[in-house]
Amino acid sequence: MVKFSAPRAIGQPGWPWTMLQQRATCYLLPLGGTVGCGGDADTAVGGEWIPFRSIVIVEIGAKDLRTHYDLIVVGTGPAGLTLARKYTELTGDKVLVIESGRRSRNNNDARNLALVNATGDLPSTYYPLHNQRVFGGTSTVWNGWCAVLEKRSFLNDEWPFDYGELYRYYPEAAEILSVPEEVHIRPEVAFPGNANVVYRPYYFSPPVRFNESHEGWVDSNTNVEVLFNHSVMEINIKSGNAVSVFMRESSEGPTTPIAVAGSRIVLATGGIQNARLLKLSLPEENKVIGSYFFEHPLMLGVASIFLDKESFDQVVDKQTSRIYHAIALSSEFSSRIPLVSATFGVDRGEKSSKNLLGKNRNTINGRVSIRAEMSSVESNSITLSNTRKDFLGQPIAQVNLRFDAAEIRTAAGFLNAELVRSGVGRMSILPENLQITGSGHMMGTTRMGHNPDTSVTDAQGRVHGVENLYVAGSSLFPAVGAANPTLTIVALALRLANHLASDN
Ligand SMILES: Cc1cc2nc3c(=O)[nH]c(=O)nc-3n(C[C@H](O)[C@H](O)[C@H](O)COP(=O)(O)OP(=O)(O)OC[C@H]3O[C@@H](n4cnc5c(N)ncnc54)[C@H](O)[C@@H]3O)c2cc1C
Repeated sequence: MVKFSAPRAIGQPGWPWTMLQQRATCYLLPLGGTVGCGGDADTAVGGEWIPFRSIVIVEIGAKDLRTHYDLIVVGTGPAGLTLARKYTELTGDKVLVIESGRRSRNNNDARNLALVNATGDLPSTYYPLHNQRVFGGTSTVWNGWCAVLEKRSFLNDEWPFDYGELYRYYPEAAEILSVPEEVHIRPEVAFPGNANVVYRPYYFSPPVRFNESHEGWVDSNTNVEVLFNHSVMEINIKSGNAVSVFMRESSEGPTTPIAVAGSRIVLATGGIQNARLLKLSLPEENKVIGSYFFEHPLMLGVASIFLDKESFDQVVDKQTSRIYHAIALSSEFSSRIPLVSATFGVDRGEKSSKNLLGKNRNTINGRVSIRAEMSSVESNSITLSNTRKDFLGQPIAQVNLRFDAAEIRTAAGFLNAELVRSGVGRMSILPENLQITGSGHMMGTTRMGHNPDTSVTDAQGRVHGVENLYVAGSSLFPAVGAANPTLTIVALALRLANHLASDN
């Protein structure tokens, strides 16, 4: 079990509860929470129930590799480790996990392999920093903000299954991430007097680092072997079957190529590399691979807001300290107009008495930070660079991403109109020169869907046209909402593990 440290929540003078500081600061969050990482669960192996702790996972070297595994998982971030772990719990099968980075962070070799060429609104240097090549992947640096994906993403049938199908995995995902259960029990509450406006907070993971929460697991599980410092370069696909993964040591200079066969293979290498690996393995097969890349546009402290305290008190969660307060337009309203989803966080809230909308009342005043969705745009994409290669000799990713300030302004305008209409509050207009940055969320590049002409994988995450090749992670999201993605990444990985185990 991994214990987390005591709270470093930041008390906000004037707030009736604790609010957390903006992202970009690393959160050390409260309550001495624990991550369930083994010891208690039971699992079925060969039809018998055996204690989970007697399944042993080992770190291996390339010379110890078997020639064949039941399942190969590429990547040890939240997607890969959740999937490998759950699948092993359910089946007891032999699993190989391959990680491009090392077990600890003290070497930079693999970073060269995350380089990209970028055009658009974020520089080339942004992407490698936000795609960590190390055991635990990008969970080694994430900030732990969690929210369930809002229904908005499902209302226009953008996802190939019902919301309930995803929602059922959130409780287990919240446990894995050690997030307060309110995250799925009470994801949003409509304001009294105007159901078009909802309170939609973020809840916090401590944050769980998957390398730490799986450290003991790696050393003690013989069913799962983890090979560090090896980068998968291609999946060898023959007649619609993924036969083997082809990899090399993640080091500059001559290294021996290795091929390992797997009955089923899952790519869990993050939103950029999942698309890049598929492009390297399936040239010309599916034009949608890499298209519709999403980030979450982030705008910090870009407006001021006044909320009627009495209305706010009726919706706000005052019980949970690991929380960031935010409001939004309801999913139904946003999809009816239609608008991109966006959450409007209330920073540095203070109480005062003020004339608001013609009445003297108690108000909450704050600055607003916006976390928004992007519409699907085909030209926001990951392709392969024609000019630059990494030190393994493969083309690096070419990333193109442009934010659309107009769609965010429109959503903000509608929110203000709804606040004013119902007397709940008022928000200032966004500045002319809106500063938008990214959130470190790489999504949408191998989108799920029923139709191979418009999507990359089916509704389970299986690559169209390849019998036994799957994808895990936020590259699967066909619509991304405004919620941070990791809770949903973990929920989807659990769903895929259950599918693979039942389809065994
Ligand atoms: C600064 C920062 C803050 C963030 N804060 C939040 C937050 O508050 N809330 C939230 O929900 N999300 C947050 N995120 C995003 C979150 O970290 C990611 O959504 C999450 O880590 C993605 O999980 P993943 O397993 O899909 O990919 P990753 O965690 O990126 O893991 C991918 C793994 O695959 C490995 N890999 C890549 N290519 C290969 C290859 N060819 N062969 C072998 N292995 C390979 C990598 O080394 C890595 O270990 C943040 C991200 C950043 C950068």
